[in-house]
Amino acid sequence: MNPSLSCDVIVIGAGASGLSAAIEAADAGARVIVLEKNPMPGGSSRLSVGSINAAGSSLQKRAGIVDTPDEHFADMDHFMGPFAGKDNLALRRLLVDHAAESLEWLISLGLSFYGPTADPPHRHPRMHNVLPNSRAYPYYLNRAAKARGVDVRLDAPVLQILRDGHSGVRGVLARMGGQSVEVEARSGVVLAAGDYSNDPELKQRFRPELARIPAINPTATGDGHKLGEALGARVINGEVVFGPGLRFMEPTRPNLVRRLPPSWLLGKLMQWALDHLPASLFRPFVMSFMTASMGPEASLLRAGAVLVNREGQRFVDELVQPGLAIAQQPGGHAWLVFDSRVATMFSGPPHYVSTAPGVAFAYVPDYQRHRPDLYHRADSLEALAGRVGLPGDALRATIESRNAALPEGVAGGVLQAPFHALGPLESRIVITDGGLAVTERHQVLGADGGVIPRLYAAGAVGQGGALLAGNGHHIGWAVTSGRRAGRFAAQEPRRL
Ligand SMILES: Cc1cc2nc3c(=O)[nH]c(=O)nc-3n(C[C@H](O)[C@H](O)[C@H](O)COP(=O)(O)OP(=O)(O)OC[C@H]3O[C@@H](n4cnc5c(N)ncnc54)[C@H](O)[C@@H]3O)c2cc1C
Repeated sequence: MNPSLSCDVIVIGAGASGLSAAIEAADAGARVIVLEKNPMPGGSSRLSVGSINAAGSSLQKRAGIVDTPDEHFADMDHFMGPFAGKDNLALRRLLVDHAAESLEWLISLGLSFYGPTADPPHRHPRMHNVLPNSRAYPYYLNRAAKARGVDVRLDAPVLQILRDGHSGVRGVLARMGGQSVEVEARSGVVLAAGDYSNDPELKQRFRPELARIPAINPTATGDGHKLGEALGARVINGEVVFGPGLRFMEPTRPNLVRRLPPSWLLGKLMQWALDHLPASLFRPFVMSFMTASMGPEASLLRAGAVLVNREGQRFVDELVQPGLAIAQQPGGHAWLVFDSRVATMFSGPPHYVSTAPGVAFAYVPDYQRHRPDLYHRADSLEALAGRVGLPGDALRATIESRNAALPEGVAGGVLQAPFHALGPLESRIVITDGGLAVTERHQVLGADGGVIPRLYAAGAVGQGGALLAGNGHHIGWAVTSGRRAGRFAAQEPRRL
């Protein structure tokens, strides 16, 4: 007999969607237990840039911007690319209708946002960027959940959802303190376990060529998708994967600003400084936390930067899916090598090395100043190779043959000293968009097309075929769907 616990609503996962669900369920009068497999809350929400696109927010009104959910709905068409026609438009409607309300709710819990900033092809500035960074999501949501008496259990992976004949889901089996514990849910269970960007099995099924490429979030292993599938649920749009993207290695030790708690005061201070101080004064401060987790823009490759591997060899046409090729290089690492022409070009607007959309841009001097572990410069290719730790002869031969292969009159090449290198770069899957099929009340659908009673899904695992391309739609969805799923689960009649 397993030891047991009981409550009204169980939430599986303490990311943005799960904690939002828990808060709403508690506000609706339910006793709530959140089970989180990691030692800290946050999931991908904690690792994100943190932007939310929303139409009709108080920040937009303050800036005199008139915007509507209808316009937001229409603008999302521009981001669908090859997946146009596969979107779940009913869920997109839900997102745009509730995004501003979700944002205001987050602000009411203590979060600060900067913006709105322009994010074309959105027709109005509607991107709101969290301050001081995305760690503010788990910090404030967890705090609000605890203030409402929610029991948040960490290191508590859910292994199975327990079903009771046709009366639906009755609880879960979780691992806590080295034991299997049965947790009973009198009203319902909300699956909020994130995506499968780091699960080789699900990626093999939907996008086999990406199966072995690691994700930014190593614990995004599609547990929620598998728990749902075990009850007959099915995954929609599993092939929609963001990445592989090029990322610079994380600093071994986070800088001071990333170590500061993402408090209200720091958020407000940054909000004020972004609004009032000249950009030149404030940028170094913003950059010092932004350049912690960034990838280079494709424009740097188009301008002539060359990708080389640990052996100093070029291994790919830089403009054709370099992410796939980087994953196959020794150690999975690559470096960008460029000359003073490209370095000068990418030292100021409009050419930036990387960006956190809307907040700030990072140029070559920012990397030189804030990421000396990534940036190297030397007067000769051999000296540059020595600084990076690459074989000098090989690097020189690679660059010479690259320069010689450029057609006459075509700009590019790595010709003018001093020479620069940025890296190591890795290739990472960012997120996956495949979610379980759900109703507009976020109830999970079973094999027969009917709802699995008392089982709800929110956030990435509850995406239900909604395509959230473009910046700032995933967190808006996580919070909106989480709040709704938590509330609906709490409203289920309690089992005897
Ligand atoms: C680098 C990066 C940048 C991004 N930037 C943005 C952005 O600016 N704007 C935007 O809108 N979106 C962004 N996204 C996407 C966005 O962060 C996610 O889609 C969103 O946060 C997902 O929220 P979630 O609650 O569904 O999942 P998560 O935040 O991943 O939470 C899921 C939680 O469930 C837990 N869990 C999983 N399995 C179990 C189990 N078996 N038992 C118990 N707990 C479990 C996990 O540990 C995790 O804590 C970004 C993502 C990345 C990786």
